[in-house]
Amino acid sequence: MNDTAAGQVLLAAFDQQLVEGVLARQPRALGKAITLVESSRRDHQARAEAVLAALLPHTGAAIRVGISGAPGAGKSTFIEVLGLHLIGRGHRVAVLAVDPSSTISGGSILGDKTRMEKLSTHAHAFIRPSPSGGSLGGVAEKTREAMLVCEAAGFDVIIVETVGVGQSETTVAGMVDAFVLLQLPNAGDDLQAIKKGIVELADLVVINKADIDPKAAAFAKHHFEGALSLLRATTAAWRPTVLTISAQTGQGIEAFWREIERHRLAMEASGELAAKRRRQAIDWMWTLIDGELRNRFRHHEGVKRDLDKVSRAVTAGSMTPAAAAHRLLNHLQDKH
Ligand code: GDP
Repeated sequence: MNDTAAGQVLLAAFDQQLVEGVLARQPRALGKAITLVESSRRDHQARAEAVLAALLPHTGAAIRVGISGAPGAGKSTFIEVLGLHLIGRGHRVAVLAVDPSSTISGGSILGDKTRMEKLSTHAHAFIRPSPSGGSLGGVAEKTREAMLVCEAAGFDVIIVETVGVGQSETTVAGMVDAFVLLQLPNAGDDLQAIKKGIVELADLVVINKADIDPKAAAFAKHHFEGALSLLRATTAAWRPTVLTISAQTGQGIEAFWREIERHRLAMEASGELAAKRRRQAIDWMWTLIDGELRNRFRHHEGVKRDLDKVSRAVTAGSMTPAAAAHRLLNHLQDKH
């Protein structure tokens, strides 16, 4: 293993200062480090890698919680109430967002500071909207790295928020210890989640807005418990549970956190937490490798020259997709 692989990268003096600032929990340094990590400039990426390597030994102690739900489910209301509750108990809370819509529009609708007014101004909270641009993989990569920076800056609860669209739930579930599905107490909503296979990712299903119609909420709870009991448990250490809450009145917030702590203890005691994190790290490495290989392939001169011709042959039925893929992939061995 060379120096880079061992995380002993030489840091420029100003980046060394940045690292020290993050470790000293300076908000300015934290913001700057995350901006560096989020940058897509090549020179920034090299610096970001060195900064992250220096911070890595100071990461890993936080409880990482993913929260997903459709727009309007009450995510920001819930996170605000939960965040303030946790700060009251001495925690430091960072909220990050993976927002698939920001990859399309370039703007961000999640993690917006105005959505969590009290929490965002609190000295023991940090809220970062979703980085914009790039693919979901790219955005999520940056969120994952921002999470590490926050941990190094002493945040011991990291909440990663995402809206229930496409692949984003799977991506977020792949970077947290506990994945929470926030639902509304109506049957249409839960059927959607069950159909899309999201329930399978959940360690905890939370039915919000129980204040509006407690009966409907209890029914939804029952429904989800039934659905969850049919699924295979992803780990022997934990069986997913269902809670009803009201983010508006605060009812159930304490019980929610007790459940997260119970999950943490069960996962830790069984060794499953460490195993899960190891698995996530390796999966993530492969996601990055796949993305980079795909990128190199698409930008390869030989591939670019041949792609149209081969695609036409496939659509015309004169070449099989397998032969076409083989031929195109062989270009990667071209000398050019
Ligand atoms: P998000 O899009 O998932 O972030 O949802 P918001 O937190 O913005 O909530 C959407 C709407 O639902 C807002 O008008 C909230 O005030 C309301 N809301 C959120 N939680 C509750 C709740 O527990 N009870 C009631 N009655 N309304 C809620």
